[in-house]
Amino acid sequence: MTTPIYAASSFFYERLEDLDRAFSDTSGGYCYARYHNPTNAALEELMTSLEGGHGALATSSGMAAVEMALRTALKSRPNRVVAAESLYGASIGLLTKILEPAGTRVRFVDGCDMDAVADAAAEEPTGAILAETISNPLLRVGAMDRLAAIAGAAGAALIVDNTFATPLLVRPLEWGAQLVVHSATKYLAGHGDVLGGIVVSDQPHYETLRALSRITGPVLGPFESYLTMRGIKTFALRMERHCDNARRLAARLMEHPAIERVYYPADPSHPDAATIRRLLPDGLYGGIVSFELKGADRAAVFRFMERLKLIVRATSLGDVHSLMLYPFMSSHRDVAPDHRARMGIRENLVRLAAGIEALEDIWGDLEQALR
Ligand SMILES: *Cc1c(COP(=O)(O)O)cnc(C)c1O
Repeated sequence: MTTPIYAASSFFYERLEDLDRAFSDTSGGYCYARYHNPTNAALEELMTSLEGGHGALATSSGMAAVEMALRTALKSRPNRVVAAESLYGASIGLLTKILEPAGTRVRFVDGCDMDAVADAAAEEPTGAILAETISNPLLRVGAMDRLAAIAGAAGAALIVDNTFATPLLVRPLEWGAQLVVHSATKYLAGHGDVLGGIVVSDQPHYETLRALSRITGPVLGPFESYLTMRGIKTFALRMERHCDNARRLAARLMEHPAIERVYYPADPSHPDAATIRRLLPDGLYGGIVSFELKGADRAAVFRFMERLKLIVRATSLGDVHSLMLYPFMSSHRDVAPDHRARMGIRENLVRLAAGIEALEDIWGDLEQALR
């Protein structure tokens, strides 16, 4: 009932002919763990089915997954990426600090403004469009079917980071994306004890994805792979609870006098409300709520966060525990100030990743800290 942890780095065959077959074709068996590993293969099969893809690659981190997806998309396409402005901080860093200096042309646009994306993609030959289903930390939701159409018309691949939404809410490959990435560190593994990532690919990109990984080897360790599969056994239950807690907390925060503004996709006045109704299932809007503290500067945000007793002050999300993070100081610290301002990340903004605790316990902690 449970996939074993295969710790082997290489595999022994009695007959050399069998080893030869394993080297020539992965369906012929395993030969070396940088190429393939039975524990990872089980996780890859699981994620392929959850996302409705052709195949998957389990990677050592979410960022390794983002990098592998970009390299796969750009392998035989123009070396240019059109990226949504509101990306995970390290994804922005990958584009601006690693790929751009090495020759990739990068253009950031508002990923929810389809005219702007279409113009940017038509400006110059483009190899990839990169976006997140629910952006971090302001929770914008782009119309990924329209992004897929724009990518298709430009001959580019659409890469979607589905970490925040998860396949319970939306499956980007079914809306036309070519590559989906996850930080498995978050909701998939779900217990704050794994660093991992996944790329799920359509059929045309799968061989390239695996070929790149065979050479560079950013693969997940089998123990992390096992823990991720163990997490996925309860993924749907946990995710429903994360979403339910977040939705109720957002509604209460909107009424609270110390709060200036709440960002949550269930809000009828959300700028992407029409897309959200179309793409996300009723009642499942993700486990993250971001909010601005009225009149708070950095010192006031610090005081508020230090008063928290149940909610853990920590980076990350998707843990069973509620976590709170200060984007200005952590996830978006290294983003250039003008880019951060364009994204709308202000000094009084905090991000709450709702855990699966009892709602009243989380709310009680917020209320006493907001006093
Ligand atoms: C955390 C995260 C990543 C990076 O994942 P790691 O596992 O930390 O490398 C990428 N994208 C999003 C949206 C994330 O939340």
